Amino acid sequence: MVPACRLVHCRWICSALKHMSTESVKMGPALSGEHAEAPSIAALRKQAEGCERCDLYKNATQLVFGEGPGKARVVLVGEQPGDREDLAGRPFVGPAGRILDECLHEAGIDRSSCYLTNAVKHFKFEQRGKRRLHSRPNAGEVQRCSWWLGAELDKLHPKVVVALGATALSSLLGRRARVMKNRGDLIPTPAGYSVLITIHPSYLLRIQDKEDAAAERGRFVRDLAKIAPHVD
Ligand code: SF4
Repeated sequence: MVPACRLVHCRWICSALKHMSTESVKMGPALSGEHAEAPSIAALRKQAEGCERCDLYKNATQLVFGEGPGKARVVLVGEQPGDREDLAGRPFVGPAGRILDECLHEAGIDRSSCYLTNAVKHFKFEQRGKRRLHSRPNAGEVQRCSWWLGAELDKLHPKVVVALGATALSSLLGRRARVMKNRGDLIPTPAGYSVLITIHPSYLLRIQDKEDAAAERGRFVRDLAKIAPHVD
């Protein structure tokens, strides 16, 4: 039997996601209520350093936990650390992070006032010679790592959470939400914050046509500008 509180949460998200049917929408695992417990973000990070909830810790260099002010009103959630982030131990310090910084700046937002994290905390990759190629985390890995994302959000109590791309979105709102269909929407959640749906900045790096890339970048900046009023 589905708990009554779950049904209320599902209906809330269903009504917010106006393009979706009102039947059997599930929240993403980060919002499902099951997550780590610790007195602070620093304590959570310490716990996560020993995490073996999935196999991704085995090949990664190190854990890449979220970082930013403990009182951040805005949290940005990406997919997973990339090659540079894995080596540095910090989120969004590679090429996608540089674009994100530029676009946040153009949207009038100071990165240092936001908390940045990922749905999955260890780098998943395929080794090709000397290169480590990004490999998308699967649903099970996202589910396992939501143990940490849910805990970060619970500790931070933000006003807005930005889902950067499909993996972050699935961890937050489940699989029924779609980046391209619901992009730019601010979805209220029972957790008390809204989720802004947009692309991952790495998408901009993959667009070959210059005009298309410029148009998509402008659209990304306009998406981000929606969170500007919530940043302290
Ligand atoms: S990816 Fe997440 S769940 Fe998997 S081992 Fe790392 S911290 Fe744990």
